[in-house]
Amino acid sequence: MTSKEINNQIEILRKELNQANKEYYIEETPSLSDFEYDKKFSKLLELEKNNPELITSESPTQRVGSDPALEFNQVTHTIPMLSLSNVFGTEEMEDWIEKTSKAASQDIFPLVCELKIDGLAVSVKYEDGKMFQGATRGNGVEGEDITNNVKTIRSIPLSIEETNGIEVRGEIYFPNSKFNNFNYERESGGLSTFSNPRNAASGSVRQLDPRETAKRPLDIFFYSLYDLDGEEIFDSQHESLNKMKKLGFRTNQNYKKINNKKELFEYIEEWSKSRFDLDYGTDGIVIKIDNTEIQNKLGSTGRTPKWATAYKFPPEIVETIIKKINFNVGRTGVLTPWAELEPAYIDGVKISRATLHNRDEIERKDIREMDLVELQRAGEVIPQILKVSEKNKRDSDSKKFSFPKFCPDPCNSELLHSEDEVSVRCIDSSCPNKFERLLQYFASKNCMDIEGLGSRICSILFNEKLITSLDEIYSLKDKKNELLGMEGFGELSVEKLLESIENSKKKSFSNLLTSFGIEGVGVEIAELITDRISNLIEIKKYSEDQKKFRDFLENIDGIGPIVAEKIIAWFKEDKNIDLIEKFINLNIGTKITEKESSSNILEGKTFVVTGSFDKYNRNDIENIIKDNGGKVTSKVSSKTNHLILGSNPGSKLEDAQNNNVEIIDISGFLALISS
Ligand code: NAD
Repeated sequence: MTSKEINNQIEILRKELNQANKEYYIEETPSLSDFEYDKKFSKLLELEKNNPELITSESPTQRVGSDPALEFNQVTHTIPMLSLSNVFGTEEMEDWIEKTSKAASQDIFPLVCELKIDGLAVSVKYEDGKMFQGATRGNGVEGEDITNNVKTIRSIPLSIEETNGIEVRGEIYFPNSKFNNFNYERESGGLSTFSNPRNAASGSVRQLDPRETAKRPLDIFFYSLYDLDGEEIFDSQHESLNKMKKLGFRTNQNYKKINNKKELFEYIEEWSKSRFDLDYGTDGIVIKIDNTEIQNKLGSTGRTPKWATAYKFPPEIVETIIKKINFNVGRTGVLTPWAELEPAYIDGVKISRATLHNRDEIERKDIREMDLVELQRAGEVIPQILKVSEKNKRDSDSKKFSFPKFCPDPCNSELLHSEDEVSVRCIDSSCPNKFERLLQYFASKNCMDIEGLGSRICSILFNEKLITSLDEIYSLKDKKNELLGMEGFGELSVEKLLESIENSKKKSFSNLLTSFGIEGVGVEIAELITDRISNLIEIKKYSEDQKKFRDFLENIDGIGPIVAEKIIAWFKEDKNIDLIEKFINLNIGTKITEKESSSNILEGKTFVVTGSFDKYNRNDIENIIKDNGGKVTSKVSSKTNHLILGSNPGSKLEDAQNNNVEIIDISGFLALISS
């Protein structure tokens, strides 16, 4: 890799990890699985290790967690609340022992192994036997003050029989057994759900209203004890654990003092299996040097202690049955299959559906309905099917799954199965399964740019059946009273929406072509086509002769045979031609533009365009000038030949008068090019 490529890769990883941190710590809606996050993190660590000159203090490898949210008061930790380094697998575990023993220049056993609780770290402080502060880890140096929320967790004592000031640290978690029901109730109440118990724990503790935290079934395990100056009180980790227990703090009793490597690997093996029987999530085992003196001797990096590490469990795999294979239909009509599952639990989360990606994936893995399959939550938060568990034990009537020929109800149009691509799609532009997403796309910036027609409004218009086909957007003005009677539509917003719809009629033909959502036709391809075909009438005429249409498309530099085929397939559909005709009747996309009349008639002439025009947008006019050999500039000078004047002109009008430039209106300009 060149140094530029390394730099790029580092930048990309940092960006992805920062985004993941934000989603995980602040928004509590991670889109990456922990496994995927850890892989990216390890990759970044490796790149930075080999290129130390590229390390910056901003890198996620140098920071703990995320900055405290501004909604909370901030608390500065007496000693930083650190993260932990990770090891994956036996080999890395052995390496860590060797490396750490070398650094300590002595035997590091005994170790204390504790389950790594998958929750949210908190610090809780007591003085004169009374709890006075609870805080999140935040960025390790500063956390969020959540004292009142922590007080609502029943297993955290409000008072203890210890008058010396102490700080205890532990992990708040959301019990697995309560998670699904909690999510179910949120969903029924129209609230967003949490993707796993860890996020539910974090979201519950970081509530601004402690009464809300009090309603959540949170619990805690404590694992560290300090005095209020941040000094260890005992000579060993196991003594700290015992003392905390005696004081009434909930500690996890599955910890073990380990005297050698053999015992360590036995512990790992035991808990790799037994962890599934617990009512809390554990994503690994924390391995700590028991002796406090050795801990202090080793110290820490800015981010992690050198005397402890986390052995991370591999992602969990479970078995379950596929009850049925269903489909989602995307905006461009692509069918994405998904499996409806006999509910299974992964890391305490109930899973009842998994993605099947596409037709090839189903074929390659020979996945069938009623198969017993292995399921994993790995690369994505959405679980995926690894393989069919026992193909030879299938029922005798098990049939190979064949992709449907028709779009699911209520569309039922024939699907396009092309040989050279994995996706199967519905190319019917009026397909109700994809229509809502198509409607949003039609209104988006790169398409018809209809302000006020965002996803929420699209969803209402679609569900209320006020728009069932794209052309009906333009008859929405006749349904103004119905709109006004609906929630979320006021006089002003309806006026604005209708005005924006009206304005969209002036968008270029290329915008219109893009907005039909034809597979493969984005802004650039649409422009390549509309550079040669100027309106809907013409393209419809072209498409009637498929050979001519294919030749035409394939001769355009930038359009390959696959995209050409997709375009042809779209124009072959009767319903799509109906749609085009409806747009032609509405007089949208019908303008005979510059291309028909292109010439060199304006050669040597320089134009400036100012103001606005009823039927044209400025871009259209400028393109006509260029296509007829003229030049367009943004400023008026003595070299300007003509100023094309629209309504509400700016200072260019005065500049033109001062420079004796000929001023013409739009009809004068059209006369120039048709002369
Ligand atoms: P970590 O969770 O890997 O380890 C450190 C934490 O472990 C401590 O701060 C403490 O809170 C906790 N812990 C639990 N039990 C413990 C015990 N017995 N003793 C000591 N500590 C214990 O590190 P982190 O910095 O909190 O988070 C990084 C991890 O979080 C990543 O490895 C990843 O798995 C996950 N993460 C995921 C995403 C995502 O998008 N999915 C984003 C950010 C972080």
